Amino acid sequence: MTKIKEIISAEDKLLQLYNLQKIHSKIDELSVLQGELPEEVQDLEDELAGLETRIGNFESEMEHLSAQVANHNGNIQKAEDLIAKYEKQQMNVKNNREFDAISKEIEMQNLEIELSKKRIRDIGRDTDAKRQNLQDAQRRRDLKKRDLEMKKKELEVITAETEKEQGELRILADRASVGIEERLLNAYNRIRNTYRNGLAVVLVSRDACGGCFGKIPPQRQIEIRQHKKILLCEHCGRILVDPRIDPEYEDEIIID
Ligand SMILES: [Zn+2]
Repeated sequence: MTKIKEIISAEDKLLQLYNLQKIHSKIDELSVLQGELPEEVQDLEDELAGLETRIGNFESEMEHLSAQVANHNGNIQKAEDLIAKYEKQQMNVKNNREFDAISKEIEMQNLEIELSKKRIRDIGRDTDAKRQNLQDAQRRRDLKKRDLEMKKKELEVITAETEKEQGELRILADRASVGIEERLLNAYNRIRNTYRNGLAVVLVSRDACGGCFGKIPPQRQIEIRQHKKILLCEHCGRILVDPRIDPEYEDEIIID
């Protein structure tokens, strides 16, 4: 009588743990699904910050170039003023030598003007190229901004949905935990927290542990199948159950 009770209870315990694991796995799965979007948002934010920096650099380079143009225009104005002054002086010279000396000054100033005009043309070409780069970067930034806004909205919706679903699953997990003896539940949680995939209860699959894929000897497989004891994988320490413990698994076999 006692023996029968024990047999039933071991299988029941395994089934309880197995069901709890299924709920926990769903919670974990949702976290993984949700986990990729924040990364995408972060990548877009980084890209956007990079583009803003580029745009800022182009803008300050263009400002620098236009300051140079203003400088050259100032020089041209100064040279033109000097030439006007010299031409007036030339009308009042006393001799040829003085006239020639002033002519040389005028020539010098004309050269200055030509030089400044050439520089302005060069800067103009430089500015056109930079403006093109700036406009390209601005266009890309605008596209990324739109992308980012969309992804953020998507993330908000998914986060809200995920949190709601996970909340519901946590309630189910709490319910599924009721009746599992504390010692066993602690062991389950300890194993679950050991592994990144959160698997503490795994199915035997192709003669191996479904958690670490370590081979299980035939005799041990028979013991596992009987579900008379709680057996751990000798490689990874996870709790092993036979797939037939899952009523849905049996259903599948019948369909096959
Ligand atoms: Zn294992």
